Amino acid sequence: MPSQRNNGKLVLELAASLIRIPSLTPIHTELQPAAAESLDCLERFMVADGARSTRLTFEGGHARWNYPVDNLYVEWDAATPGSQHLCFMGHTDVVSPGDSKTWTADPFGGSVRNGFILGRGATDMKGAVAAFAVAAGSYAERCRARGAPCHVSMIITTDEEWAAVNGTRRVLEWMRDNGKSPSAFVVGEPSSQEIFGSAIKIGRRGSLCGTLNAQGVQGHAAYQALFENPNRALSLGLAILNAHAWTDAEPGMPATNFETIATQSGDFGATAIVPGEASALWNIRFTHHQTPDGLAAMLQRLLDAPPDWARRHPDISLLKRLELTANIDTASLPYYSPPNRLSRLAKSVLVTHCKREPELDARGGTTDGRFVHDYFPEAEIIELGLPENGGLTLSTHPEAFGRRGGMHQVDESCAIPDLQALTLCYRDLLLAYLGQVE
Ligand SMILES: [Zn+2]
Repeated sequence: MPSQRNNGKLVLELAASLIRIPSLTPIHTELQPAAAESLDCLERFMVADGARSTRLTFEGGHARWNYPVDNLYVEWDAATPGSQHLCFMGHTDVVSPGDSKTWTADPFGGSVRNGFILGRGATDMKGAVAAFAVAAGSYAERCRARGAPCHVSMIITTDEEWAAVNGTRRVLEWMRDNGKSPSAFVVGEPSSQEIFGSAIKIGRRGSLCGTLNAQGVQGHAAYQALFENPNRALSLGLAILNAHAWTDAEPGMPATNFETIATQSGDFGATAIVPGEASALWNIRFTHHQTPDGLAAMLQRLLDAPPDWARRHPDISLLKRLELTANIDTASLPYYSPPNRLSRLAKSVLVTHCKREPELDARGGTTDGRFVHDYFPEAEIIELGLPENGGLTLSTHPEAFGRRGGMHQVDESCAIPDLQALTLCYRDLLLAYLGQVE
């Protein structure tokens, strides 16, 4: 008997139910009930669909970000190690809506307008979580009807948007220690920019921050003998670091880049005073060919043994006034998953449903996908979710392009056709990757 299940309707209802729960990342105790409620909602839906669930609360592990985090692990049939097992990764915590008066709809209303579902998390990433839950349930129903095993699991954390200390990483560790070994992971983070299905992520670069500080001697700007200007040392130091050519790009993964984020020195209201110190905040986005320690050592080497052009600079002797620090303990590591069977199948599913060939790339910010290879080094990882800009594919509010409607923006929203297409793509990817269940 053909299934009576309406996945298009189910995904819309589940996404709206999740959006209506104000599950901000639970960094404070009073935020924990809503985070737990978002997992309750999802768990109820999936258990009713035949899944088995385990709630996992972890805490500690960091001097500052040690707050307890509620996580959910769901699976249908346990897979034996070595068999094909696909695990979905996502989060139901959201960033703050900011000033809700600037929204044109309730940020936690889950309302529908002009073919979009609106609310904080619609794109990042309650929409994709709902899409996967519905797709997995649909695949499981097909497996049950044919007496076939359903080797699908799901990790949902409530701490992706903040420290990520007690979320996905701890669940992956628990999975490894409990004999669960997925052969592939699908991360549901937004993966294309504007058009659904135009890109699949196969990695993300890492991120390392630090400071560069210069000590000088404060003094009257007219008396060179009585001051030492730290801005000279800082400018030359930053010029040296900026000038370094990085050549570690991969197909789809841009080369490492060093950027100055902020500089601070002097007083704009006091023209005659040379300041006594100057400092800069820097950020490096780096490929999987680099490590945080290696990068910190390399930056220091560039300053200790500058290139020829800098050696001829009149301020070269001031470089010894610089002090470089790197925040190694807060660095996010990169990952890169060489394209294999999963990405090949995902591509062909997207070609079928979106009529376009998706690009495989590793651009964009860091995600929980970076933790997988620490526990499952052999697993293939892709990231496939909704468009970052909120699915402006419908062009119903083009004047808002880039300013409203996208992830972490005011009026975050996702196009309902995109949400339904994503559900279909997840379902077909399960069928293609795990077998057609004839
Ligand atoms: Zn996200």
